[in-house]
Amino acid sequence: MLKLVMIEMSVGTKALIRFLVWNRLIGNRKSIDILYKYFVMDMSPSQIADELNITTGVVRGKVSKAKQYGLNNKTISYIIKTIYGDLMNIKPIIERNGIRGYRCTICRKEIYGGITDTIAMLRHIEYSHRDVMDGYINMFVVKVIEGLKRKA
Ligand SMILES: [Zn+2]
Repeated sequence: MLKLVMIEMSVGTKALIRFLVWNRLIGNRKSIDILYKYFVMDMSPSQIADELNITTGVVRGKVSKAKQYGLNNKTISYIIKTIYGDLMNIKPIIERNGIRGYRCTICRKEIYGGITDTIAMLRHIEYSHRDVMDGYINMFVVKVIEGLKRKA
């Protein structure tokens, strides 16, 4: 039973880490900041909205996305706190390219997706640079799981 719980926790942990790494690689700093303020700093959605100049709806949307992997708030907080520094040290793969689009810093491909920008970026990273993304994910999963084991 305990083993099953550990495996389920690992699946959720990996999914959340994947979500965080992906946001970092596409240069979406705001999403990570929202989650850090909510789960680690324990700020309310309206405080976060005021500070980042966004709506509470955006804050709640990001928070519910982070919760969709079945982890409790304490675990989410622990994961974000554990990887935050290293995560922010990663250079995003996707950078803005003028006002019209984005460019990949690895292969220089230009990405134009309009309203579905983030989907186009994710697709590019997953198809062309999956090894880079998986490398970060695996590194963070090991760090978090080792930390959870020590705490258990
Ligand atoms: Zn590329």
